[in-house]
Amino acid sequence: MAGGLDEVEVAVVGAGPAGSVAAETAARLGAEVVLIERKREIGSPVQCGGFLPEIEELEGLLPKAKIPEALADLPEGLVLHRTRVQRICSPSGRSKEFSVLGRVIDRRSFDRHLAWRAARAGARVLVGVRAELQEGRLHLSGRASGTMDAEVVIGADGPGSATARGAGLAARGEVGVCLEYEMAGVDIDPAAAEMYFGTASAPGGYAWIIPLGEDVANVGVGTRPPYLLGRGLREVLDSFISEHPIAKEKLQEGSVTAVMRGLVPAGGMPPAIQRGNVLLAGDAAGMVMATSGGGIPLAMVGGRAAGEVAARYIGGEAALQEYPEWIAEEMGRELANSVRIREVVDGMMKSDRLMDALFGILPPDQMKAIMRGQIPKALERVGDLMASR
Ligand SMILES: Cc1cc2nc3c(=O)[nH]c(=O)nc-3n(C[C@H](O)[C@H](O)[C@H](O)COP(=O)(O)OP(=O)(O)OC[C@H]3O[C@@H](n4cnc5c(N)ncnc54)[C@H](O)[C@@H]3O)c2cc1C
Repeated sequence: MAGGLDEVEVAVVGAGPAGSVAAETAARLGAEVVLIERKREIGSPVQCGGFLPEIEELEGLLPKAKIPEALADLPEGLVLHRTRVQRICSPSGRSKEFSVLGRVIDRRSFDRHLAWRAARAGARVLVGVRAELQEGRLHLSGRASGTMDAEVVIGADGPGSATARGAGLAARGEVGVCLEYEMAGVDIDPAAAEMYFGTASAPGGYAWIIPLGEDVANVGVGTRPPYLLGRGLREVLDSFISEHPIAKEKLQEGSVTAVMRGLVPAGGMPPAIQRGNVLLAGDAAGMVMATSGGGIPLAMVGGRAAGEVAARYIGGEAALQEYPEWIAEEMGRELANSVRIREVVDGMMKSDRLMDALFGILPPDQMKAIMRGQIPKALERVGDLMASR
């Protein structure tokens, strides 16, 4: 292809948080890196709630992870709003809350900022270019076309990753579907990120209100298709806004100012995240907490590890097979636990009565632990009970 890019050391497919951090890391360590993004404008359209726990919370969430500099040194200009608590609302309308210090970021500018960091570190960025991995070679189309051979390919191309498919790494777990509105003129608690459970408002998942300011919020619902029982996601979200006894008081006078849709891996990591010269990172590798759907910090942690392994491999200092071990060490336990927790909760989600009972026995600190992918004793007992039914 034109521009001397027929052969590169590291090709990163996808300039989301995983890909940009991978590209920045590998370039800083001296590798020749190309970052390929199919969108013409990185970060747009947004498909995210933008909720990011503060660093001290992340250290509790992923205690063994190496937090990338791009996450630790987030410019204040990218933070739209801050929250202090997470509030969970049960199907019958009872609520419990616990302290979680959170930032709500401007996701569009955030993704651009991360790509700028990669470019400053020396990565070559191609936008408006789709990359498809076929028989070990990248086929590019769009603003640049041709083929590209890379010594290492990092697939950071999100849920439904074509790179994973092309490498024969596509065995994936469940995928969640999400619909989200940005709403203005709402009467919310600006200090609280809220999650609502219940078969009517969020069958098989949860609905959320993430404040973007005093009277603006991202309001969404995420679930898995079998739980919708023929209902459309839009119908579910609209009825949450206009009919949920608590949420409607906050939301029904608001106006929808943006609509966002997207997929979220809900089944954890696939059995393999590396094959030959291909490494997967972020959503492409199922690096999302199955308890919350939160994936931005995990994508960045995964991207950093992928970028470092790739550069060290190019430098003759590491084998690519080390990558899954690094990931297992940094966040394997939390990811696996979050899937186990989701499986236990899945068994109860079809019944509001059971969900309310679970809600009743869990004190707020244990709810926080669950969100962090830790399994408290009370939930283990519930899991054993469900398994014996
Ligand atoms: C509605 C919704 C709300 C969410 N809210 C939150 C939240 O509040 N907090 C949180 O932590 N997480 C949230 N998530 C999850 C979070 O958005 C993802 O986990 C995160 O974006 C993963 O980053 P990534 O870099 O792995 O993938 P992505 O951000 O999906 O980036 C992948 C990139 O690859 C590009 N790409 C895809 N295919 C190709 C190709 N063939 N060639 C070139 N480029 C390609 C895409 O255009 C995209 O830019 C939400 C998800 C959804 C859908």
